[in-house]
Amino acid sequence: MIKAIYSNGNACPHVFCDACGQDLSLDPGLGLAVVNPETDEVKFVCKLSLNPKCEQSLGSNQQGAKWIWTELHSFCDQLQHNTRL
Ligand SMILES: [Zn+2]
Repeated sequence: MIKAIYSNGNACPHVFCDACGQDLSLDPGLGLAVVNPETDEVKFVCKLSLNPKCEQSLGSNQQGAKWIWTELHSFCDQLQHNTRL
């Protein structure tokens, strides 16, 4: 999930693991953006190396298909490109 962290009165967006709440913005190499190909829902989770329970909590979607995984930093690059920021 994306939440605001307040610093010096400014709201700064950070990315948090949807499973455990870890702030993934502190090191984007530790997180994944995952897409459910059936619903296009996007979730953010810790990589296995940081917390195995977070990836495992996603399970499979209703048809048993896997989520589509993307490195968090690549997802953010694509988001920035697609929003033309
Ligand atoms: Zn996590």
